[in-house]
Amino acid sequence: MKKFVYLFNEGNSEMRNLLGGKGANLAEMTKIGLPVPFGFTISTEACNAYYENNQSISSEIQNQVLQALSELEAETGKKLGNPANPLLVSVRSGAVFSMPGMMDTILNLGMNDETVEGMATLTNNPRFAYDSYRRFIQMFSDVVLDVDTFFFERLLEETRENKGYSSDPELTAEDWKEVIVGYKQIVKKHTRKSFPQDPKEQLFLSINAVFDSWNNQRAIVYRRLNKIPGHLGTAVNIQSMVFGNMGNDCGTGVAFTRDPSTGENRLYGEYLINAQGEDVVAGIRTPQPIHTLKQEMPEVYQQFSDTCKVLEQHYRDMQDIEFTVERGQLFILQTRNGKRTAQAAIRVAVEMVKEGIINKDEALLRVDPDQLNQLLHRRIDDKFERTQLAKGLPASPGAATGSVVFDADEAEILAKDGKKVILVRPETTPDDIHGIVASQAVITSRGGMTSHAAVVARGMGKACICGCEAIKIDLAAKEFYVGESVVKEGDIITIDGGTGEVMLGEIPMIEPELSNEFQQLLVWADEVRQLGVRTNADNPEDSQKAREFGAEGIGLCRTEHMFMDPTRVPLVQEMILAENYDERQIALSKLLPLQQGDFEGILEAMQGFPVTIRLLDPPLHEFLPDKEELIVECTKLQITNPNSEELKAKELLLKKVRQLDEFNPMLGHRGCRLGMIYPEIYEMQAKAIFYAVATLADKGVEAKPEIMIPLVGHVNELKQMRQLVIDAANLVKEETGREFVYTVGTMVEVPRAALTADQIAEEADFFSFGTNDLTQTTFGYSRDDAEGKFLQAYIENKVLPDNPFAVLDREGVGKLVETGVRLGRQTKPELKTGICGEHGGEKSSIEFCYQTGLDYVSCSPYRVPIARLAAAQATIRFSEKDVETLVVK
Ligand code: PEP
Ligand code: MG
Repeated sequence: MKKFVYLFNEGNSEMRNLLGGKGANLAEMTKIGLPVPFGFTISTEACNAYYENNQSISSEIQNQVLQALSELEAETGKKLGNPANPLLVSVRSGAVFSMPGMMDTILNLGMNDETVEGMATLTNNPRFAYDSYRRFIQMFSDVVLDVDTFFFERLLEETRENKGYSSDPELTAEDWKEVIVGYKQIVKKHTRKSFPQDPKEQLFLSINAVFDSWNNQRAIVYRRLNKIPGHLGTAVNIQSMVFGNMGNDCGTGVAFTRDPSTGENRLYGEYLINAQGEDVVAGIRTPQPIHTLKQEMPEVYQQFSDTCKVLEQHYRDMQDIEFTVERGQLFILQTRNGKRTAQAAIRVAVEMVKEGIINKDEALLRVDPDQLNQLLHRRIDDKFERTQLAKGLPASPGAATGSVVFDADEAEILAKDGKKVILVRPETTPDDIHGIVASQAVITSRGGMTSHAAVVARGMGKACICGCEAIKIDLAAKEFYVGESVVKEGDIITIDGGTGEVMLGEIPMIEPELSNEFQQLLVWADEVRQLGVRTNADNPEDSQKAREFGAEGIGLCRTEHMFMDPTRVPLVQEMILAENYDERQIALSKLLPLQQGDFEGILEAMQGFPVTIRLLDPPLHEFLPDKEELIVECTKLQITNPNSEELKAKELLLKKVRQLDEFNPMLGHRGCRLGMIYPEIYEMQAKAIFYAVATLADKGVEAKPEIMIPLVGHVNELKQMRQLVIDAANLVKEETGREFVYTVGTMVEVPRAALTADQIAEEADFFSFGTNDLTQTTFGYSRDDAEGKFLQAYIENKVLPDNPFAVLDREGVGKLVETGVRLGRQTKPELKTGICGEHGGEKSSIEFCYQTGLDYVSCSPYRVPIARLAAAQATIRFSEKDVETLVVK
């Protein structure tokens, strides 16, 4: 005879396919000797048999259920339907793969007009007994008898109104009795039958309902979405109910085996004497801290803390446990891996290695790299409540408080006076840079994740929210609106750049911390990982910070940020406005020593680690004023001062702005196309690099520059630009007598570069995949437009699985990266490859980079620890991908 029904002590965690996830877990806990309320599981095969038998339970299975029931009764000493000592059970579905919400749980099955009286006496709490009975009727009717909950809720509401109550706890036992009468009438009216009083009938009807629920609309859709096969079927778990509210020798609580906010190894939790689970959650009574249980119920406490140790050893992780004490006897209702803060995750993982519970690889997999963000920026103290005023794009993480200011100059003045300010602008331009430097954080109402404000703020590690369209800025009135609320200049706000939230007033903050455990974990990560981790940095401070966080070089130094410094913008504009080569050379010669100084600072901070310096990338018009503003200014001057020099200068500027105006700046005259048309710009930059290396060499500082040409699409571009760099090196060599060790490589950020990587590699010492642009050019999306207009809808509607600008699109962009690496190495096996788009700091993309055989990833300084951990995880996962238990999702 085939076995369809398994007592909890007959299974184990390996039997998921037969017992479902929940059933297998309950069996496992029972197997390791935990005091789990006893019960049994009807297998998934019984579900399939039910369907084969025209949706009815065969007598064979019925007999096995009845047999298991009598063993359950023997084990508990209670009996289904016996008023003197009634057995009450819960009935729950339990599929092989969790399908939350497929079927509601039925609690307190076994209640009827007689057992409710028994419960009233046993608990000495008639109110509780009748309330439980009416809940059971409502639940059972909804789930099993298909009577809409609405009718019961309406009756309850009428009762409350008639009696002048405002909430359920005000109803007395007598009131609930009346409600029960009404409930039974509702059942009769809708089903034309009385509410079933026979507990066995209740039981079998419930089992039928669970089996039926396997094929309800919700479940079918859920399975389709999650690719769960329909033939698996669901199991049904029947478990005896235990009560923590039968007197003062009873109680219920929730506890973690370690402190989930700090990770400290101590029991953490709370409980209530003479209460049921709901009372703890509802917050009507204040629970006691778990350690006082030691005095109140010493034996139970001892048993509980021993159980916690067993559970941690068994599941090899911190547990979150629900327990109930019924008449002095401890029951474990549930245990699962406990949710924890980043700080706790790190401490628990490191300490568990030291305690010999897990190994280092497992510890590394226990911490989610995304969570580390919390620890690497100032953040809002979660102890304090936050009320959101508006929400924009989380452009740069971190939190900040300050008074609102709408103008960069004003921000600078106030900051000089020691005021903390937050700059709020429709958008920012290079002209605002001094205001950004002076501010704690930046909010823009327009622009996306790569807008000027976002890029600059991220580079500086400053919090920033972009595209916060809910705020309407009135620059003239110096205020902004969100609906009815008005925020004026000087008002204090707090922002969370990690969530995009803007809040009124000041909220306390916590400083970032790299605890000893955090550092320990990163040391372990470095031992394991094979991918290098570099940083994107373009000033000595960021380079220094990145070194402290463990960066092994700079993977991208964007030189345009140096051009955007307000003291340099006039020189850059002079260079752009130059009428001819000679004029341009004059402007460039003024810029050269400044650039040289920048490079000296950065190369010195990196102390001999490689530094990839990218020559100028953005279109030149980014360094000129906004066209519309210039037109307004010129128009005003034509009226007020038509013959002025100022007007002449502005008109000249406007002419140039118009000349440089582009339909599609992203695809326009930028990257190496600038160097091809104005080679003198790149020459100046290359020379500045070599002069810097020579000067540092005089000081005895080693420097390893890697010069990178952006946006190459054809090998001939790189060939020409490479020669330009070599010529500059030779020139400086002749002047200074120094030999230089350097390489020249390219960014791969347009599809053609990846597809012709074999040719391009002839001219390149290294490739750095610029996956920001490569994503834009592969999808044909402009990032700012996509993120502002349709990308969110795409993600919500599952057209795309993720934002491809955050998580590398392996199927498309990834294929180009793979192709680029393969073709490049075909030509030049020693070709060095890395990634410097934002994906270089994102865990799934880092895993992809490891699998594709890149040499390093490069990310912003604050993401370096995240990348170190993610790189280690990739190594462990990829080399031990069969060891599924190691992988914590
Ligand atoms: C890129 O395109 O991925 C890149 C790093 O360059 P940028 O973001 O500066 O365009
Ligand atoms: Mg780029």
